Amino acid sequence: TVKGKTAVITGSNSGIGLGIAEELARAGVNVVLNSFTDSEEDHALAARIAKETGVEVRYIQADMSKGDQCRALIEKAGRCDILVNNAGIQHVAPIDAFPSEKWDAIIAINLNSAFHTTAAALPMMRKAGWGRVINIASAHGLTASPYKSAYVAAKHGIVGLTKVTALETAKEPITANAICPGYVLTPLVEAQIPDTMEKYGMGREEVIEKVMLERQPSKEFATTEQLGGTALFLCSDAAAQITGTTISVDGGWTAL
Ligand code: NAD
Repeated sequence: TVKGKTAVITGSNSGIGLGIAEELARAGVNVVLNSFTDSEEDHALAARIAKETGVEVRYIQADMSKGDQCRALIEKAGRCDILVNNAGIQHVAPIDAFPSEKWDAIIAINLNSAFHTTAAALPMMRKAGWGRVINIASAHGLTASPYKSAYVAAKHGIVGLTKVTALETAKEPITANAICPGYVLTPLVEAQIPDTMEKYGMGREEVIEKVMLERQPSKEFATTEQLGGTALFLCSDAAAQITGTTISVDGGWTAL
């Protein structure tokens, strides 16, 4: 059982990270929320989840674009049985017009951060004799789309890191897996809609239907609750021999 374990979830004051935090908290897991901000709302969010679920919920500010802050997040948490590497950003542009600083930021936040947090968390998991590393990759960790060079490169990279983490912990009661969501209607996806509308000369509904969900045969967005449920499953005893692999939650996208 996961009850009483501690989860650190990067980038969890919004979207998928928050959905996973809430699902784990409902299952009795103590949760550390994180983002780069340190606002009243961030701490209020932690207090709300704690009140609703009865578990301990802390909010720890750390910028996942900085390696030392990634490691400090884990150290400040003090314990990390479940590490969910979720923080991520997106930028959409053709390669020859892709701003270098956006490339660097995406590789740092979406890929490098997971290296640093994993490096800091594995000794804690080994000491506790149990651990789960859950990397939030993407359908774009397995396949590509135009104009998303940095994102696709980072997500393929984190799938590779997941496999190496699994091999290095294979003989221990620790697993490492990547969840590969298709489109989930979070602030990250909302932010892509205006650019995509412009690029394709379409309206909002048309972009959702013909561009975003075009690749998702179910024609439905996946939900943050479903991703929380998938993460919780990976923490269960039933998943103890699932390691070094990817689980797609993409309405059939990668079956195409
Ligand atoms: P979101 O924008 O709602 O959440 C991103 C989270 O990361 C936020 O909490 C944000 O504060 C945090 N974050 C951003 N930069 C940070 C930094 N420098 N330091 C710390 N935290 C930072 O987006 P989301 O859709 O929930 O995305 C979460 C993850 O899921 C990302 O890795 C994303 O690539 C992945 N994903 C999302 C979708 C989707 O359709 N929404 C699909 C596949 C994969």
